[in-house]
Amino acid sequence: MIPHTIPTWQHKSWQEQLTNQITKPADLLSRLSLDNQWLPAAERAAALFPLRVSEAFVSRMRPGDPNDPLLLQVLPLGEEFAVTPGYSEDPLEEEKSNPAPGLIHKYHGRVLLIAAPHCAINCRYCFRRHFDYRQNTPSRTEWQAALAYIKTRPEIDEVILSGGDPLMLGDKQLRWLLTEIDAIPHITRIRIHSRLPVVLPDRFTSTLLELLSATRAQMVVVAHCNHSQEIDQSVEAVFEALKQAGITLLNQTVLLKNINDSANILIELSKRLFQSGVLPYYLHLLDRVSGTAHYEVDELDARRLREELLAQLPGYLVPTLVKEEPGAPSKTPIR
Ligand SMILES: *Cc1c(COP(=O)(O)O)cnc(C)c1O
Ligand code: SF4
Repeated sequence: MIPHTIPTWQHKSWQEQLTNQITKPADLLSRLSLDNQWLPAAERAAALFPLRVSEAFVSRMRPGDPNDPLLLQVLPLGEEFAVTPGYSEDPLEEEKSNPAPGLIHKYHGRVLLIAAPHCAINCRYCFRRHFDYRQNTPSRTEWQAALAYIKTRPEIDEVILSGGDPLMLGDKQLRWLLTEIDAIPHITRIRIHSRLPVVLPDRFTSTLLELLSATRAQMVVVAHCNHSQEIDQSVEAVFEALKQAGITLLNQTVLLKNINDSANILIELSKRLFQSGVLPYYLHLLDRVSGTAHYEVDELDARRLREELLAQLPGYLVPTLVKEEPGAPSKTPIR
């Protein structure tokens, strides 16, 4: 029996939930009973990069708290207009390693395919907030070029689907793409980076779970969860279902000032993830993308946090602290 307290959005399909997302700063503020002092800046900053957040994610925010760690990831702020030395629009210089539309080949043995241009959430700190998705919006024709590139390079054994969010694709497109990748003999692993387990749990329909568990190649899902408050029962149920389907579950986190830059918060996150069957993988320093400097935690503080985690957690619950440097052969570990 469905308790009468379940809000109406929970009865909607994932596609309907996407059409009904919150995109107006005024709606977000009023939904959380926050006063309008943040509205003018939010509206200006939303013109730089639109506000977008799902009801599911908003439902885990604390009403009336302007410092809520989930709200701070999505609320457009005046600080985004700051011009900071060392911050640019393409700090990773990805445009240099773009051999086919939507394909990024930077590291040995693995390629990253931007499978879908959009997300079900716009994270303000996003390293792709200035990415030219129009040139990287996929279609089958463009995927063919990426697939042809992969097919002729036997040293590639893993395809990483990223975005945007690859699970924003409809089942039909995703089925086609997974089947094509799975048919390449030297591909042994398919990895999907997605924020949807946290942002849109209802995306994980039985059809999707079937799709993800049907590949010959081993399937890895990397969730992007930044705070334990993002994990409620519905998210836990998604992780459980993915685990039941035989999928390896990892998580990566971005270290964000005033959101998760404390040892207690990170420890709690690691424990909560593991309870749900997910292993912490990476803890990323922020990429220096214009408009995000107010989220940066400096490297020295990050190192101290890492040491505290090592002192308090078993090694397997300590994510690897990394940053991304253009031209480097892998993420750069920080010790
Ligand atoms: C992060 C990243 C990868 C994956 O790196 P792993 O260390 O294997 O997780 C692959 N390609 C690109 C372009 C990346 O940015
Ligand atoms: S889900 Fe990832 S790619 Fe999408 S806006 Fe957030 S950080 Fe950026």
